[in-house]
Amino acid sequence: MGHSEIACQICGVSFALARIRTPQEPPTAAWSNHGTTDGGYVWSWAPEEDDFDDEKSDGNVAGGCMIAVRADRDHEDGDLLALSQHPEEEMYLEDMHGIPKHDRAKILKRLRDLEGKYCLEHVAGPECGNGDGYHGNRISVEEMRTCSTMQGLVKKPSDWEPEDGDEDFERSEGYFLSGLVDSVTTVDSLYYESSHPKRHGCDNILPTMWYRDIVNDTFHMDFYSIAIHPACLETFKRATLHRYDRVDVGAFIQWWEMDSDGKSLSRIEDDADVRAGRSQWWQHIQGSEYLAANPCFVPNLDKAFLPLAPQSASPAGHEEIFSSLPSEIRGLIFNHLSLEDISNLLLASPLLNRCSQDDLRRRLILEWPWLWEAWSKLEYSAWVGPTARDLRESVKPPGKQVVISDTDAVNWGSAFRWISRQRSNDELKGLRNRQRIWKRSGEILDRIDQLRKYEELAKDASVLSISQGR
Ligand SMILES: [Zn+2]
Ligand SMILES: [Zn+2]
Repeated sequence: MGHSEIACQICGVSFALARIRTPQEPPTAAWSNHGTTDGGYVWSWAPEEDDFDDEKSDGNVAGGCMIAVRADRDHEDGDLLALSQHPEEEMYLEDMHGIPKHDRAKILKRLRDLEGKYCLEHVAGPECGNGDGYHGNRISVEEMRTCSTMQGLVKKPSDWEPEDGDEDFERSEGYFLSGLVDSVTTVDSLYYESSHPKRHGCDNILPTMWYRDIVNDTFHMDFYSIAIHPACLETFKRATLHRYDRVDVGAFIQWWEMDSDGKSLSRIEDDADVRAGRSQWWQHIQGSEYLAANPCFVPNLDKAFLPLAPQSASPAGHEEIFSSLPSEIRGLIFNHLSLEDISNLLLASPLLNRCSQDDLRRRLILEWPWLWEAWSKLEYSAWVGPTARDLRESVKPPGKQVVISDTDAVNWGSAFRWISRQRSNDELKGLRNRQRIWKRSGEILDRIDQLRKYEELAKDASVLSISQGR
């Protein structure tokens, strides 16, 4: 069967995402596509002396990338450590043109000796072109740390009993949440890694990509789970809350099970970045790092929501005119302006800014419904922030949910401008991913709405035929 990666059934992205650290980051900031906690990393290779012969090579070895030696301390050589180009680790620039030939020969021999043990790591320079992982200078560890952490929605056995910590939907739906697992990135790793904590007696979660495999009993499995990122499920929950005014995880499960009659997952059109990334091995394409970012905990997002300044004493005359218009008229004028125009207009007029916040927030929710901080205080599930390792080692993960207790006290114009500006610089990657997952959730819900309508019609028709005695 060969290498086959498991993808999150909500966002469509593989769990097998690697990260290549920069020289400034510690070894723990690097991981391979086998997950965040197995100690692996993207390998490097020892260059040849010929690579640095200006007559034979083009002199363009790498974009400032480095080779880190990840051997045991016992193997370290004092003489070589003095040649290291990193203050704390044994690390060398891949491009060794500037190193005297005698020293370079020693380094190359050391690297060649180590190569057989697979102890060389590729470390990303500013112009790194390595596609085996996303680069540390393009996405932070904090944004990416849960990208390989999977949770299973496990099919309930017939003797299932509720347990402490169950979410409401676990009691009412046919599936429950497993603990977390950081390393089940491929089908090959299915049986080796247990989830933590063990929930409802289940620690091996056997994630499945297709419900039709279960219906057809393709793998003769006693049980199975649907693989998700916890943060993607939170995003889906809010999409249902926005549409139905209540959380409806059952809608996702119903959609996923539609696969059994051929209405499959793949019929949700993936966006271009996911299509480009999906391959037998995930393609870490530059510019699509946001696909790895946690959509719930977005570093720095709290900076968007500044308090509204106190009312100034004497507004200028032209401000008075605009802000003294009845709110219905102002609303009509705003309808013809873009969010950007409105927020700029409010920037120029503090008084208008004060009396138009409600209009602006409503407009923001209409255009950016995925900015749930503007309309929801629903608390995140405890599964969203940590990795399985965090839970095992009782480590508190970074990140705090942004909850706005008083939406009337926030300057929504400045929130819009700040978020827009950050996004145009490719910051707030988690928010960009959230917008994408929100759209995908909406497409799932469109299908479910359709399905439920048909079911309703079919029920009405059968009631009608019964009442007519047919
Ligand atoms: Zn996901
Ligand atoms: Zn590189």
